[in-house]
Amino acid sequence: MTNASSRTYLITGGSGFVGSHLTDALLARGDQVLVLDNLSTGRAANLRPHPNLRFVQGSILDELVVDELVRRCDVVVHLAAAVGVRLIVEEPLRSLTTNIRGSEIVIQAAHRYRKKILVASTSEIYGKNSSGPLREDADRILGNTGIVRWAYSTAKAVDEIVANAYHHERGLETIVVRLFNTVGPRQSPAYGMVIPRFVQQALAGLPLTVHGDGTQTRCFAHVADVVDALLRLLGSPEAVGQTFNIGSAQEVSILELAKLVIEHTGSTSGVDLVPYDEAYRKGFEDMTRRVPDTTKIRELTGWVPRRTLDEILTEVVKQAREELAAALQ
Ligand code: UDP
Repeated sequence: MTNASSRTYLITGGSGFVGSHLTDALLARGDQVLVLDNLSTGRAANLRPHPNLRFVQGSILDELVVDELVRRCDVVVHLAAAVGVRLIVEEPLRSLTTNIRGSEIVIQAAHRYRKKILVASTSEIYGKNSSGPLREDADRILGNTGIVRWAYSTAKAVDEIVANAYHHERGLETIVVRLFNTVGPRQSPAYGMVIPRFVQQALAGLPLTVHGDGTQTRCFAHVADVVDALLRLLGSPEAVGQTFNIGSAQEVSILELAKLVIEHTGSTSGVDLVPYDEAYRKGFEDMTRRVPDTTKIRELTGWVPRRTLDEILTEVVKQAREELAAALQ
């Protein structure tokens, strides 16, 4: 089913966690979607077959494939990236190549064919700035480049600058989004993200591995709210040339989070405080606090995150139980 105003979106990383939810939303409203994904962290099972969906298994580093797909679409949403702190600490080189060179290839192709492009960046680019709610114009307190954890944020900062330069100098229609911690169904526990990891541990009756003393805080937004934010920005001509935070402002400490997961699962698991140098090999540093100020996107599009942490945990636990039951059948 398509409608008269239907457009074709190229979603790089469309089989991943955020990308697959965005794909579902675009298909549901009658758009066409081309997905480019190398299935490194995405899963083919995240996408169901649909007459308006075309899946291409390939890399954003493959210039010919990227060129062809960008030529065929109306709008590019660039989500493909090497993500997850654990992966970045273990494989910083792969992360850098994908996130710098890969993004440059996608942005250059968007410029070649004059296609609007939304580039996904990250709250990591605020680095060690743990002051109150972070505005888009907040100072970035840069992590030391001798510490590989900062490979991701450094690469994403380069992507932002490249997108902004194409907008500034060549008039390319760009939107940059800084995604804060995002959670929900389909997020894999394999790359170290805390909520899927804690839920997996709790359901297995294993201790929940809280890093450090657990006083560090994060805010978790539901992926459906994040997708809603992306769609609003893509539909807003005023968003072009700008950068937006997307995230929840409901702050929770990681120790408190562990206790909430234990409650939600009814698990008998306890909590283990794990020193950072045991949790990761060398090359890791944590942020003590990371809260977004989302005034900018709210004022432009009316967006506010709707789902609470409680609702998110209920849904993630339910899905993890279903997956576990299916795997045991
Ligand atoms: N974390 C933890 N135990 C884990 C995984 C993560 O205590 O098994 C902590 C991590 O050190 C950080 C927070 O949870 O303080 C969020 O980590 P995640 O990797 O999900 O996202 P980040 O915000 O660090 O990118």
